[in-house]
Amino acid sequence: MSLKMINQNEGKPHSPIKNILAVAAGKGGVGKSTVTANLALALQKLGYRVGVMDTDIYGPSIRKLLPEDRLPTQRGKTLLPALSFGMPVISMAYFRRDDEASAVRAPIANSIVEQFINSVEWGDLDYLLIDFPPGTGDVQLTLSQRAHLKGAVMVTTPQDLAVMDVKKAMHLFEQVNIPVVGIVENMSYLNYGPTGERIYPFGQGGGESLARESGVPFLGNIPLDANLCLCSDRGESIFKDPEGNLGSVEAFESIAGQVVRHVNLIGIESEQSLGQFDLEWKEMSTTC
Ligand code: ADP
Repeated sequence: MSLKMINQNEGKPHSPIKNILAVAAGKGGVGKSTVTANLALALQKLGYRVGVMDTDIYGPSIRKLLPEDRLPTQRGKTLLPALSFGMPVISMAYFRRDDEASAVRAPIANSIVEQFINSVEWGDLDYLLIDFPPGTGDVQLTLSQRAHLKGAVMVTTPQDLAVMDVKKAMHLFEQVNIPVVGIVENMSYLNYGPTGERIYPFGQGGGESLARESGVPFLGNIPLDANLCLCSDRGESIFKDPEGNLGSVEAFESIAGQVVRHVNLIGIESEQSLGQFDLEWKEMSTTC
């Protein structure tokens, strides 16, 4: 059975945010939030203005990865986001206690996400990264249809199970006509021993072969790095001590460059397809 879905991104109003990107995975635990946070920091390091929206209502982790220098505030119905490392951030984590479970029914989760989309004052941004909840449910669909997404960065680990699930998530974006910017493979390899020999504890090449098979760009590999995990747990930026976190820093910088390149290509392609539409319309009108 095939479902026809409407993408309400079409006909979107002018927005002060140039590129809104989903960072999505098929399953939890593959490092999607870690990738969101560090990709945001890497884009910021390249000189872009970046914001982060954490839409994982049931298990928000962005606040831990990007601890705030300033808490969010409210002005009338408008939410002013928190600030972390100079970036605006919004997350459900600001609206409940750390140890409090989010027992929230799907319609409420949906309306929270809608508020994040409609009521947050982000200011001018080059990139807004949306940390998507894992899976392909209601909230994911709302975001895909309403968040004016330019594209989706998919995160997987090398294992078959993760690759299989990320494929399903890619299918969701395909159904609502949102281009996949590319695939990032996290926890790809481990630098082992004094020579830094690469070993592949979870297998090799799963993300890359999925990219090839699906005809989407492969954006790069991130090593399995104990320091990255430590920095995440402490809410520290790996870019504060680039020498101490060389493997991960280089990986994220390179992936950020690839994201910029491929998002720009999506922009060019969509302008070209608008041009094609225009041409067809003119031809039709002269034959009438
Ligand atoms: P997800 O958002 O997909 O559920 P997280 O980003 O919360 O996953 O990551 C899950 C755990 O794995 C966290 O403890 C995180 O620090 C760790 N982790 C993620 N990526 C890496 C990596 N490349 N190397 C080491 N640990 C990682």
